Amino acid sequence: KELPADPVLTNTRRQVREACFSYVTPRTPSQPSLVHTSPEMLEAIGLKGNEQSDYFLEVFSGAKILPNTKPYSMCYAGHQFGNWAGQLGDGRAINLTEIAHNNKYWTLQLKGAGETPYSRTADGLAVLRSSIREYLCSEAMYHLGVPTTRALSLVLTGDMVLRDVLYDGNPEYEKGAIVCRLAASFLRFGNYEMFAAHQDIPTLKTLVDYTITHHYSYLGSPSRDVYIAFFKEVVAKSMDMVIHWQRVGFVHGVMNTDNMSILGLTIDYGPYGWLEGYDHNWTPNTTDNAHKRYRYGTQPQVVLWNLIKLANAIYPLIESVEILETILNAYQNDVEIAYFEMMKSKLGLIENDENDKLLIEALENVLQLSETDMTIFFRLLSQFKSNQSLEGIDCIKEAFYNPDEIKESIKKEWTEWFLKYQTRLKKENLNDKERANQMNTVNPKYVLRNYMSQLAIDAAEKGDYTVINELFDLLKKPYDEQISHQKWFAKRPEWARHKVGCSM
Ligand code: AMP
Ligand code: MG
Ligand code: MG
Repeated sequence: KELPADPVLTNTRRQVREACFSYVTPRTPSQPSLVHTSPEMLEAIGLKGNEQSDYFLEVFSGAKILPNTKPYSMCYAGHQFGNWAGQLGDGRAINLTEIAHNNKYWTLQLKGAGETPYSRTADGLAVLRSSIREYLCSEAMYHLGVPTTRALSLVLTGDMVLRDVLYDGNPEYEKGAIVCRLAASFLRFGNYEMFAAHQDIPTLKTLVDYTITHHYSYLGSPSRDVYIAFFKEVVAKSMDMVIHWQRVGFVHGVMNTDNMSILGLTIDYGPYGWLEGYDHNWTPNTTDNAHKRYRYGTQPQVVLWNLIKLANAIYPLIESVEILETILNAYQNDVEIAYFEMMKSKLGLIENDENDKLLIEALENVLQLSETDMTIFFRLLSQFKSNQSLEGIDCIKEAFYNPDEIKESIKKEWTEWFLKYQTRLKKENLNDKERANQMNTVNPKYVLRNYMSQLAIDAAEKGDYTVINELFDLLKKPYDEQISHQKWFAKRPEWARHKVGCSM
């Protein structure tokens, strides 16, 4: 099934109607150079061994177009921070082509290869700093078991990009870079919202049919019943994704509907961050500080909000508020259960107990009494001995950022919690070692903390890629002990406290 293309063949910025995408030409980089490639992704698309060739560099920096391909950018709209934003589209993303390899289907997309019809007031480019963040994090998320887009390559274009004007009025230039990212599809909720907003039902239907035929073919050929089943699947996949985020402490930061993948993949690594101190109110996005719409604790609810927008968009194909509402109401219930099951697994609890919910809520409270590192806490918790007379708090004290703050009252609350936990563990059938092993498969030891990306960025800016290489390898096995990499199992250093990620 073919999607309608925009008949205009230039990269000029414009409003596009009745078309799902526009053909574009990537910008020619002045002096491209390779920074990194992902061996797994090279393998996945059958390019292993070609990564050092000039041709590889030319293709993945936008200098050369593969024969018989027509690069394109997609047209989409979206709700940003709760408001309708109209046409957005791939402002700096260009799909090179689609390939099938080893029975898998991949779209290859360059991010930062120049302007497109959807660039609006921006330049279509990306800087090294944000590209490193996307490159490292998307591969790290995959290895954590979180559904995500992938990354194949990271290149420098040799061009300088203007990002910020400093307080003294001087422009600040940064190195331009391009990530080639991959997914079966980059379609977002916003693609469907675009046509619903224009009341262009024929194109909406074409796009939904295309999505089902290519990516949800197991549901059957498009019909009203299949549209309903499709929506249910998107709901289930989105829920699965966000529960994984909560599990590993990932905060996306910009959960606008144009950043919600129709395949339930984590997409658009911008100002994302990782919880260090466990805090439901934390967001890495400094532009969202007033409302904290996209804070850690609300991510599952924001997914629902976004799903409601998707339901509105595809409503013309289903024409039943009741059916859509039933599915959305089920999400409310299911996401709570899924969250609960996930938290139980983080605690190593397999059996059921009527007080488990209270135990988890109590833990969420004590964790927020004093800044406590989420990753380190759960990793250390697996070392707790169910029959130990030792205070539980001694087992996890390395997770506290301010040990001086842990006065009697906080100690008392922890002691109470550990007593409950210890009692609860008696109901389990695994011994301490088995439980620790199980917990260490859901609680990662290593995540991409902001300061770690920052160290990789600082070195790379000077042409030193050793930290990128090291982190890339470390994060392939986030659940393994990796004793030689122990230095990365550490709290955020004090200098990085107020450092936040950057989206551009
Ligand atoms: P984001 O906040 O990253 O999801 O981006 C929102 C919209 O802005 C999308 O349509 C992007 O394609 C577009 N955009 C972001 N950065 C740039 C850029 N440097 N040049 C052109 N478009 C951009
Ligand atoms: Mg985006
Ligand atoms: Mg972005």
